[in-house]
Amino acid sequence: MNKQYRTGDQNWVRERNLAIVLNYLWEAGQPISRADLARTSGLNKSTVGSLLTQLQSWGLVKESGTSNQRPGRPGVLIDINPDAGRIIGAEIGVGFITVIVADMKAKVLWRRNVETTEAGKPLTELSQAEVLEQAEHLLQEAIAKAMTCDCRLFGIGLGVPGLVNHSTGTLLFAPNLGWRNVPFRDMWYQRFGVPVIVENEANAAALGEHVLGVAKQLDNFVYLSAGVGLGGGLVIDGKLYGGTGGYAGEIGHMTLEPEGPQCNCGNRGCWEMLVGPRAILQRVRQAAVEGRAPDLLARCSGNANAIQMEHVLQAAAQGQPAVLIALAEVGRYLGIGIANLINALNPKMVVLGGVLSAVSPYILPRAQYEVNQRALETAREGMQIKISAFQLDACVMGGVALILRGILNNPVIWQQKVAPISHLDEHSVFSATVL
Ligand SMILES: [Zn+2]
Repeated sequence: MNKQYRTGDQNWVRERNLAIVLNYLWEAGQPISRADLARTSGLNKSTVGSLLTQLQSWGLVKESGTSNQRPGRPGVLIDINPDAGRIIGAEIGVGFITVIVADMKAKVLWRRNVETTEAGKPLTELSQAEVLEQAEHLLQEAIAKAMTCDCRLFGIGLGVPGLVNHSTGTLLFAPNLGWRNVPFRDMWYQRFGVPVIVENEANAAALGEHVLGVAKQLDNFVYLSAGVGLGGGLVIDGKLYGGTGGYAGEIGHMTLEPEGPQCNCGNRGCWEMLVGPRAILQRVRQAAVEGRAPDLLARCSGNANAIQMEHVLQAAAQGQPAVLIALAEVGRYLGIGIANLINALNPKMVVLGGVLSAVSPYILPRAQYEVNQRALETAREGMQIKISAFQLDACVMGGVALILRGILNNPVIWQQKVAPISHLDEHSVFSATVL
């Protein structure tokens, strides 16, 4: 027998009930009465009262107005306390770092994004040590901002563009950064003294959509994140699907063209080589070189290599045919890949984030056409393709969601100033059914 089962003593039942009450309060999204909370949760009123007193003593919930809906004494309403503490969401991407500070209701209070250093050198050209120094500097600023509320800092949720070992919080390999074995969790826990949860950026973003964004209450969906690479976060039966080692979701490396362009992973014709921003720029630059996009080329002083995504977006908005054709071609490959995912996973939704969300008006119609042509009708029935609620901030909001989910799923651990990070269950997506 390899499997360990945790038995349920009284403390365990109380821990679960505290989590359940907190989750119901979170999902209500507005102040609710003790009576409504008892009715929704199925717990009796006195138990709910005792659990709320405990949560209130930790500052996680607060009284918020009264209800006059029923005859008699007005009932006191309870809500999540936004000032229970602060949460930091961070992303180290390819060529940028983003850090945000949010309150307990996931409202963003502070945001910084750096793309280049003061010397004007792209971050991708910087050494790993230089990028880490820059990230730590931003985190120090964020922590200083978080501390102005005179409340606790719950932790840092970090998204990184690569494979993550969840039990150690180590970035194992980030192909597009060329980094290996960075022990972010231990490194930053020692440095900043707060819990750090590390997750692959697409997984983090998927969690962000599930907890805070367009995929709330959805138990089966796929998040597609296009940055320099193309990452995927799979939520299956209400949980982030990790596979045997936690490395599932590398859908950007599905082969779509056996003889296609060489990918950083070592394979050829990977999906991310055909639909990511690199693919878009390469197609548009090619069109410019061939004389099919003269206006665009003129705007870049005749240098096709100077064409960037912002130029592509402007040209697409003006309806320049060669650019629209290039984007439709990218939409075609996007749709082919999505059709494969639909046939394999039968998701309720596919969420597009990152750069794909910005170009979606130009690529989605063709992508949807391919899906209709190629995915099995039964598997795609009722399936929607939606744009991320947070677009370029999907990953940092996912970082916030990583910490928030930890608090909602186990408030007992998180009421301590510094949570014992080894106790975090880093893989289950929270929902009303936290058990
Ligand atoms: Zn690849």
